[in-house]
Amino acid sequence: RSTKPIRIKKICCIGAGYVGGPTSAVIASKNPDIQVTVVDYNRERIEAWQTDDLPIYEPGLLDVVRAARDAKSKRTPNLFFSTDVDRCIAEADLILLSVNTPTKSLGRGAGHASELSYLESAVRKIGEVAESNKIIVEKSTVPCRAADTLRDVLAATAKPGIHFEILSNPEFLAEGTAIPNLLNPDRILIGSLKTPRGLQAAQALADVYGAWVDHDRIITINLYSSELAKLAANALLAQRISSVNALSAMCESVGADIDEVSYAIGLDKRIGSRMLKASVGFGGSCFRKDILSLAYIAESLHLFEVADYWRSIVEINEYQKDRFTRRIVRCLYNSLSGKTLAVWGFAYKKDTGDTRETAAISVVDNVLTEGANVRIYDPLVKETQIRQELKSTTSRLGCAEKQLVVCDSAYEACTGADAVIILTEWDEFSNRSEVVRRDSGHGKKTKARSERKVDWARAAEVMRRPMFVFDGRNIVDAGALEELGFRVECIGKA
Ligand code: NAD
Repeated sequence: RSTKPIRIKKICCIGAGYVGGPTSAVIASKNPDIQVTVVDYNRERIEAWQTDDLPIYEPGLLDVVRAARDAKSKRTPNLFFSTDVDRCIAEADLILLSVNTPTKSLGRGAGHASELSYLESAVRKIGEVAESNKIIVEKSTVPCRAADTLRDVLAATAKPGIHFEILSNPEFLAEGTAIPNLLNPDRILIGSLKTPRGLQAAQALADVYGAWVDHDRIITINLYSSELAKLAANALLAQRISSVNALSAMCESVGADIDEVSYAIGLDKRIGSRMLKASVGFGGSCFRKDILSLAYIAESLHLFEVADYWRSIVEINEYQKDRFTRRIVRCLYNSLSGKTLAVWGFAYKKDTGDTRETAAISVVDNVLTEGANVRIYDPLVKETQIRQELKSTTSRLGCAEKQLVVCDSAYEACTGADAVIILTEWDEFSNRSEVVRRDSGHGKKTKARSERKVDWARAAEVMRRPMFVFDGRNIVDAGALEELGFRVECIGKA
């Protein structure tokens, strides 16, 4: 058995989404001698990756993609996008699995367990087409011991004599800051079996990252520790948000200010100041699903109290979203019937066009149910995506289609509105003095967006009286808005 170092020449990334695309682009840009091909069966997505109108928005992403993808005099392109999954798998030495692992929608684990069918189907394909040894890397977030399942699938599908080494290398990027996170990661986690082949494969992957990441930030650990660490990291991040949101409910009753409380807590170096911002609730495709997956695993191990503990983080998040809606109803004289609400922001956070599990879905669904007319504006998210997201996740939209208008500007959304509801912390919605960050990462769309900041006085001109603001992200200077005649309700402030 060879213990010679493995030198990776070709990487195939399966899954051209929020993780697969940016990660592959950074790996390719930092390793000019490695050919990186991102494959997906979604042809539309692959075609978009080959243009300058990328399928996902991330500040700085286009520059990184262009540097590795486009032919230049000094550099041969080494980043490719393809739908030819079989060929790319067959040619690769190392395969990154970056497919989606959403919460199951069917069966006994529905709403709790991770759906691993996409992962299984990708690995079946690897087994069927591989003609040589492969290192297979779990980039997707997976339940603990998913590597054993993948090994079983390969044993049943692959030709004899081919060796597959499975590594766990979870991704910790956050949407909106993916490129800086990938270029300057807190740590790179590589989990492997502690066998000679496992360690050899881990070293080969560490060498890929070593092209730009300091060696002391590349951590090699046990395969199953690595799988669990990713779920645990997301659970702890979300737990901080739910803790602060739980405190925000107390602040509103006792006359405290959650921003001041968070500031005071965060000064303790043992706690730190990050992820302590109160809000209408967290969204995104990861936090909820990863916590539910962790709880499901705990339950399947008969650790019921542990499962309840993790689940409570999600429960507080649901409570926070409902509480926010109840406050809107209460302030608007206990009825939204016939009233108009301008919803500013639909993405689950700023600097992304991702709307998966965004808090906006619950809030919009709730206010539609209360009979409100809703006028939504988001600087990045298009009408089709908003309608599709609401249609697939809410019971209400089918019969409330007429109550919903998607607008091209914040002012248009405010026309005839009784209240502005801020659901995404886009810089342009804040009336504070910080400047909107400029970014050249996404062609036309971004430039148009970054030029302007909302003029609240202009918004006020087209609204009905009295005018309310419900700030679900605590981004406005309430005093300045009150001078313009708004009544302002923030999270965690009496
Ligand atoms: P995504 O939905 O944006 O992308 C997944 C892609 O995989 C899709 O384009 C889909 O068409 C493709 N795909 C699925 N099965 C396939 C197959 N068999 N063959 C070819 N293509 C296939 O998902 P994402 O947000 O990039 O997340 C991917 C994984 O990374 C998930 O497990 C997620 O939990 C994890 N993760 C996500 C983030 C994030 O911020 N989005 C961060 C860290 C980790």
